[in-house]
Amino acid sequence: MTKTTGPKLSDVEGARGFHGTAHAHGRCIGQALDRAESLCRQRGARLTRTRRRVLELIWDSHKAVKAYDLLDRLGETEKSVRPPTVYRALKFLIAHGLVHRVDSLNAFIGCSGSDELHNAQFLICQKCGEVSEIDGEGIDQAVARQAAAAGFTIRSQTVELHGECPSCAAS
Ligand SMILES: [Zn+2]
Ligand SMILES: [Zn+2]
Ligand SMILES: [Zn+2]
Repeated sequence: MTKTTGPKLSDVEGARGFHGTAHAHGRCIGQALDRAESLCRQRGARLTRTRRRVLELIWDSHKAVKAYDLLDRLGETEKSVRPPTVYRALKFLIAHGLVHRVDSLNAFIGCSGSDELHNAQFLICQKCGEVSEIDGEGIDQAVARQAAAAGFTIRSQTVELHGECPSCAAS
């Protein structure tokens, strides 16, 4: 499916699914930033310092992050950061498929799926807040069939499932 040759998060042990707190998260962050750099290079897009920093802050955990939290965190290291700076960086990262918006949380999460632009589908833990991106190809096809049968043109699609991750369900 993927045509690009850069590192893929889906190839990284532990990049998909739920993680809990006990894993080497530095590895997830490192892989995400490496992938962003290689994809931007391939596409001739500029991963500026601010864009890279916003991506790094989003990857700080596997929980979705609100824009105003990003603004606060960014302000700790960069003087006079204004909301448009954060929104422009988010817009860039989303356009390149490096970040997804989680509509039901009004927050953002790093993409751990394929390098191809895709509809993201999420499992969201209501207890710990961890978000897991799932491979939605089968979901996309099923939704497309139903829409086509109804003569409906899909303009946007959101699949976000709320529940409990394995460790929260076990505790
Ligand atoms: Zn991690
Ligand atoms: Zn994704
Ligand atoms: Zn949980």
